[in-house]
Amino acid sequence: LRKDDAPVVPEPVSTADGRAIEVAANVGSGAEVPPASDRGADGIGLFRSEFLFLDRESPPDEEEQYEAVVAALEAFPDDRIVVRTLDVGGDKQVPYLDLPEEPNPFLGRRGIRLSLEEHADLFETQLRALLRAAAHGRDGNGGGGSEGDGASDDDRDDRGGLAVMFPMVSRVEEVEAALDRVESVAADLAAEGVDHAVPELGAMVETPAASYLADALAARLDFLSVGTNDLAGYVMAADRESDAVADYHDPLHPAVLRAIDRTTAGAEGTDAWVGMCGEMAGDPELTELSVGFGLDELSMSAVTIPAVKERVREVDSAEARELAEAVLRCETRAEVRDVLGLDE
Ligand code: PEP
Ligand code: MG
Repeated sequence: LRKDDAPVVPEPVSTADGRAIEVAANVGSGAEVPPASDRGADGIGLFRSEFLFLDRESPPDEEEQYEAVVAALEAFPDDRIVVRTLDVGGDKQVPYLDLPEEPNPFLGRRGIRLSLEEHADLFETQLRALLRAAAHGRDGNGGGGSEGDGASDDDRDDRGGLAVMFPMVSRVEEVEAALDRVESVAADLAAEGVDHAVPELGAMVETPAASYLADALAARLDFLSVGTNDLAGYVMAADRESDAVADYHDPLHPAVLRAIDRTTAGAEGTDAWVGMCGEMAGDPELTELSVGFGLDELSMSAVTIPAVKERVREVDSAEARELAEAVLRCETRAEVRDVLGLDE
């Protein structure tokens, strides 16, 4: 795979027929933000906020979280930063949180489940930090005692600013509960006279349930983002960590591709945009297919951004849709790979 030698394209790209596709970066630490910008990222499509909670003895406070998000916003003054709320449990353990012992943590209290249940306190602190950060660089409501903004970021385009997404969603009720928490945090901040704004709000689609419910989720949210790493694991019932079933854990299995298509189809007719932030998004050999599924944004590790941008510019979106339709008719991975012109 040729990933490293494509030239950096600093500006946003469109397909050959003019469909804008945002190509953003996944970041798993503050140190990954500047290289993402150097590689031409159109913002951050997945800011894995759990890095702020790892390798320490207690959770970060509101101020520390606020500052980390503001630093990312300042690195991308014209672009969107999508922060994922705390996603622990399963493969992501944080000792001081005393997560419940479960026989199968991948099917247990992960992601949004923990935020709404055991760790409502952490969720509230995180939402306070995020709503305050969302006001950063916008024409604020003044006051609030914030420090100077510095950058000339008062003129964001539509893509700009903070967005927040919830991980491991499997029920509409979770989204409704999370939106209630956002509303109550906003009311608290307003009562305290603290500068804040409500960011764009979205959900990750990384369970089959979320894919089946994409229409209902999209009707309540500003965006969805497909996490193919977990989605492939849950659709195929194959642990993403296990070598023994690595062959099952592949987004090119027809069932996973149909789950992705069901997600974009579900959001059609709503105002929600749909992105993808799992590994599949960063594979330039799959860019045409991703465009064909109707995704608006692809977010990936920074190293693959130039190659994916290069590929987006070559794609014709009508041909890409035909390719996606051909792939959706396939019944085996071998057929999928054949349609995509990939070796077995
Ligand atoms: C995913 O599941 O595809 C995803 C992007 O999230 P993570 O890899 O952090 O679980
Ligand atoms: Mg995931």
